[in-house]
Amino acid sequence: MFWDLLCGKNNLQLQLSDFEDENSIKSLETTIRNFKYKNKSSKSGFCKRCGSYKLIGWGGYRRNIRHMYAKDERVRAIRFRCKTCGKTFTVLPIGVTFYKRFGDKDYQEMVEQRCSRGSGYRRLSRRGKIKYCSHVTMWRQMQKTGQQTLNAFFDLGDLTFSGIIIIDERWLSVGNGIFHFGCIALDGITGRMILAEVYPAFTKKEAEEFLRLLSKLVDVEFLVADDSVIQAVINKVFPDAIRQYCIFHIKKNIKKAFRETKLMKLSGEAVKVRKEILDIFNAETSDEAIRRLAILVEKRHTLPPMAQDVVNRLVGKIECLFRYLDYDIPKTSNQAEHIFSLFQPIIDAAKSFSTGAGNFFKTIMFYKNFHFYSSGSNKDKNTMHSIGVNSDSMFDFIQLP
Ligand SMILES: [Zn+2]
Repeated sequence: MFWDLLCGKNNLQLQLSDFEDENSIKSLETTIRNFKYKNKSSKSGFCKRCGSYKLIGWGGYRRNIRHMYAKDERVRAIRFRCKTCGKTFTVLPIGVTFYKRFGDKDYQEMVEQRCSRGSGYRRLSRRGKIKYCSHVTMWRQMQKTGQQTLNAFFDLGDLTFSGIIIIDERWLSVGNGIFHFGCIALDGITGRMILAEVYPAFTKKEAEEFLRLLSKLVDVEFLVADDSVIQAVINKVFPDAIRQYCIFHIKKNIKKAFRETKLMKLSGEAVKVRKEILDIFNAETSDEAIRRLAILVEKRHTLPPMAQDVVNRLVGKIECLFRYLDYDIPKTSNQAEHIFSLFQPIIDAAKSFSTGAGNFFKTIMFYKNFHFYSSGSNKDKNTMHSIGVNSDSMFDFIQLP
C-alpha cells in the first residue's frame, strides 16, 4: 500500500475506512485493542522508582467513596508490586483521588453549583434538611480554582481572537464594607471571556497591569469600553489600538444631564436640543455624525447650560466616539454588562467570605465560556464550541480536587 502524501484528503491519520481487505482491518483492530490495553494505567504501569515493567498483583483493599447526590459507593483499590525492586503501590479507579472522600466529579459539582447559583456556601451545601457536603469542603474547592483559572486563560491563549476587546469593571463587595475591583476582558465578536482579574483598587497602575497581562494573551486592535481608566492607559500597552467609547453609556449620561424632576420640567428648547444631541448617534457615517455635532458646537452659546456641558464633553471625546461607523466593531460594551447582570446575585454572595472573592470571580467568569450560548448562527453552541473547541466543561482545563 502506498500513501500519496500530497493528496488533498490525506491527513496522516490511519482510519479503518482506509483499509479495504478484511485481513488488514483485523490486524489494525488488534493493534488498536492492544494499544488501548497497554495504555490502561493498571495494565501498563511501570515502577515509579526503577522504571521496570515487571509488575505483579499484590492484593488490594476497598474504600468508600462519597457522592453529592447519590449513595456512598465502595470501590476497589488494586495494589501492585515491582518484581525488580520490590516497591509496592496502589491504583485507584479513575475519578477517585487519594485522601479525598468525594469523587472528583462531586468536587466539580460543588464548584459548578457555586458558579451557577446565588446563595452562600452553607445553603448550597444542603437542601432543606438534606446535607450534601460540608460548606467548608465546598469553599475549599472553590479556592483551588483561582490560580488554575488564570492558567487556563493562558492555556486558551492561542485560540482565534477577533482583535476587538470589550473591557468592563465592577466593584465587588467582599464584606466588612471592603470593596475590590473585578475587571473582565472579552472578545467583542465571539463573547469569549479572555481574562478576568481582581484588584484591591483600580487606578492607572492596576489598569496597566491588567492590560500587560492581557497583552501576553491577545493582540488588541480595537477597544470598546466605558470612559474609564482602561481607556486612559490602553495605548500605553497597545499603542495602535483604536478606541471606542460605549455609546450606550454616553447616551445614558446625556439623558441623565437632561433629567426632569417633579419640581422642574424641561423647557421646550431643552427637549429639542436633547433630541438633536441623541440624533448624532443615529447618523449613518462618521462624517455625518461629526457634522451634526459641529452644528451644535456652532450654536453652543445659545443652548441651555446643561446642553452646553454635554456638547463640550462630546467634543472632548470626539476621537473615540464614532469609530463604530468606520469599522465593523460593536458600539457598546453591553456584552460585558450583560454578564455582570447575570452573575450579580452570585457576585453579591461573595461578601459572605472576606477572602477568596478573586478566585471566585475569575472562576465564574471562566465558567461562562462553557455555559453561555451565543445567539445567531451559533445559538445552540456554547462559546467554546462556537469557536471550535469541543468542550462542555471548564474541568477540561481545571483539575479538581
Ligand atoms: Zn521497581
